Amino acid sequence: MGNMKINITKCLEKKEKPSTEGIAFGRNFTDHMFIADYTEGTGWHDHRIVPYQPITLDPSAVIFHYGQTVFEGLKAYKAEDGSVRLFRPEENFRRMNESCDRLCMPEIDEEEALEALKTLIELERDWVPDAEGTSLYIRPYMIATEPHLGVSPSLEYKFMIVLSPVGLYYKEGIAPVKILVENEYVRAVAGGTGAAKTAGNYAASLKAQRVAEGMGYSQVLWLDGVEKKYIEEVGSMNVFFKIDGEVVTPALNGSILGGITRKSILEMLRSWDIPVAERRISMQELVDAQRDGRLEEAFGTGTAAVISPIGEFNWKGETFSVNGGDAGELSQKLYDELTGIQTGRKEDPFGWVT
Ligand code: PMP
Repeated sequence: MGNMKINITKCLEKKEKPSTEGIAFGRNFTDHMFIADYTEGTGWHDHRIVPYQPITLDPSAVIFHYGQTVFEGLKAYKAEDGSVRLFRPEENFRRMNESCDRLCMPEIDEEEALEALKTLIELERDWVPDAEGTSLYIRPYMIATEPHLGVSPSLEYKFMIVLSPVGLYYKEGIAPVKILVENEYVRAVAGGTGAAKTAGNYAASLKAQRVAEGMGYSQVLWLDGVEKKYIEEVGSMNVFFKIDGEVVTPALNGSILGGITRKSILEMLRSWDIPVAERRISMQELVDAQRDGRLEEAFGTGTAAVISPIGEFNWKGETFSVNGGDAGELSQKLYDELTGIQTGRKEDPFGWVT
């Protein structure tokens, strides 16, 4: 963004803060937001923090027609000493730039984006909830704003950050979920946009998710888009299995989103000398392991839930239980360690917290 100066306009009246008890995810927003504009030739300009409000866009803006947009998701936690902690925020801005590259969008300056985020959070400090398990969800995103109906990269963009207080994901400890292995629809294909955090991937996922929910499952397990044999992700989380004492997760193959929780879990497991492998895993291999009693645990990983144990999966109409439907020991340990680091209850030997 280059020599960023942030112009701050404060709101006249602060909103009433919602109780985080039973708060719905992503429906409440703080008093202010960050915006910067991009114009081809000029670069990023007009960095500003303004009262949270609707924005005006031309009806022909590229975002509405061709979905040229990327986003990120991360959280700020309030520690017991009142400090506000960000978990690996630089990783999110790095991934955002990778997404931008895939979508032919301009790069942001990662350091300036982090500075903008810190400035915004400082202003919204009172919005970071401090009850156990709560946090302030951070949504940085970029949209293509040029009015143009030609299919080509926009010449104008907005980069924005909005903040949303979110509540406890699990009220009674981490609860295993039931998942449906999706055999018809796919989320992404190799060569497509699956590795980028862009709106179209999420729009494409809605239908399968709706069907799964209708059948009483909370998430979809996505298979590869070519043979529908290999495991990719679960809902909007990466997926891990503990088989025969080894922790395996699908390798990043171009259609899987490289989660920051995934990366952190891998680093943590390696530091504990637990065997890990990033490789291709077929559904058949998983089912064989389950039948032979070698599948010890299964869990999803992501910013929202951190660790989400899988208690049961349904593949082609047959149901398979994992660890008797309970959260596994390793899932619980990873959850405790990671949330401990995030909230400051535990040491941060990796230097992940800002
Ligand atoms: N896969 C998808 C498709 C996602 O949307 C997310 C959430 N960002 C993840 C995986 C997990 O990524 P992270 O650990 O960075 O939240």
